[in-house]
Amino acid sequence: MISTLIYRSRLGPSFEPSKLEELVCVSQSRNAALKISGILLFDGTHFLQVLEGPLESVNRLYDKINQDPRHDSVVELMRDYAPKRHFENLGMTLFDLRSDSPRTVLRSVIVAGALKFNLASDGRVYKFIKSFIRGSWRDQNLPQSEPASWCFVPDRSLVRASPGPLFVDQPCQFAIQPIVEPLRGQISSFEALIRSPGGGSPQDYFASIPAERIHEADLLSKEWAFALAKKIGIGSHKLSINLLPMSLVNIPGAVDILLDQITRNGLVPEQVIVEVTEDEVISGYDEFTTAIMQLRSAGIGLAIDDFGAGFAGLSLLTKFQPGELKIDRSIITDIHLHGPKQAILNAIVKCCAGLEISVVAEGVEKVEEWCWLEAAGIKHFQGYLFARPALNGVPAISWPVKVRR
Ligand code: C2E
Ligand code: MN
Ligand code: MN
Repeated sequence: MISTLIYRSRLGPSFEPSKLEELVCVSQSRNAALKISGILLFDGTHFLQVLEGPLESVNRLYDKINQDPRHDSVVELMRDYAPKRHFENLGMTLFDLRSDSPRTVLRSVIVAGALKFNLASDGRVYKFIKSFIRGSWRDQNLPQSEPASWCFVPDRSLVRASPGPLFVDQPCQFAIQPIVEPLRGQISSFEALIRSPGGGSPQDYFASIPAERIHEADLLSKEWAFALAKKIGIGSHKLSINLLPMSLVNIPGAVDILLDQITRNGLVPEQVIVEVTEDEVISGYDEFTTAIMQLRSAGIGLAIDDFGAGFAGLSLLTKFQPGELKIDRSIITDIHLHGPKQAILNAIVKCCAGLEISVVAEGVEKVEEWCWLEAAGIKHFQGYLFARPALNGVPAISWPVKVRR
């Protein structure tokens, strides 16, 4: 079995293009020793490389490339397996798009490939090569700002810290994490995340509740989220809460209970957003429809949480369009390094733009992720890069500021 990996990278700032031949020479013998074959395409700024060989060797070499300062912005585009190599000569053959026309380069790549069997023109390897040679891959990849051109300045003006729960004998607590619009310096919403009486995770909290009382506890716990919002004085900011959809379906009069809690704490329904996860909506869609109608007619907003983590995917949006969609951290993490994640994210952004749904990227931890996501058109972010959840309070928010270099 042959493992195939295709990546794209940019020439590192420390690398002299005139040293390219030298680099290729060194790589050629190194790759041959690893039983790796493949080609390297260079257009003056970007590389596209096809690596193929034993899985272990390909992985080891790709790790090296990721740490090599001569390669910048390395993005994995494809991993696949094949019965045979697409390029039979061990080592690496360079195709320089600066010295020949796209048509000529494509022709020489075809000659270099074991085309008769493997480099079929309907195969993905061939298509990736062709779109790189023609430059059409750029249509999908907007220029982004340099991660190094930003620094993050913490703003503590909203910080509210509380030594403990608001009231004695509180059955649960809440932590607050802001969702922000970094380039406008605005807070989109505060999300209330449940904590156990000892400050433990949502899992800890729900594990202590008997199964038959989970929905009731979930719904009634929201009183403490609204009480916290009141104490903090969230003003006209929005408050996002998490609910199991069945907490709205199984408890009689659930939406009225929620409305009561909201008004009792001096909030209005229009500033509250209920987040439910993708999987929950799908598994109980018919029952949940009534709850959605009630929530929406009361003025409460709806968000789909953890989108992309479940099995529904885009087909969910054919049934139901929320005001807000939160993209799961599993898609966001290292998105700047991963072509398939990028293509999926672009599709979600495009789809939501057509439906006027606002998109939030969840779990953003790295500047590189944020820069890529901004370029892809996302404006709302949640994650440790900007703010961590604060128990019984509001955390400092780190806002990006452009630095002159
Ligand atoms: P969620 O609604 O998707 O909330 C975001 C979770 O990701 C939170 O974990 C938050 O602390 C974490 N997070 C935020 N930014 C980052 C980041 O940059 N990196 C990483 N690694 N994590 C980040 P938490 O508080 O443990 O909540 C987990 C889940 O528990 C929530 O996911 C939500 O689905 C559920 N949950 C929270 N509160 C409630 C509630 O009141 N009722 C119900 N039914 N579920 C709740
Ligand atoms: Mn949530
Ligand atoms: Mn989530």
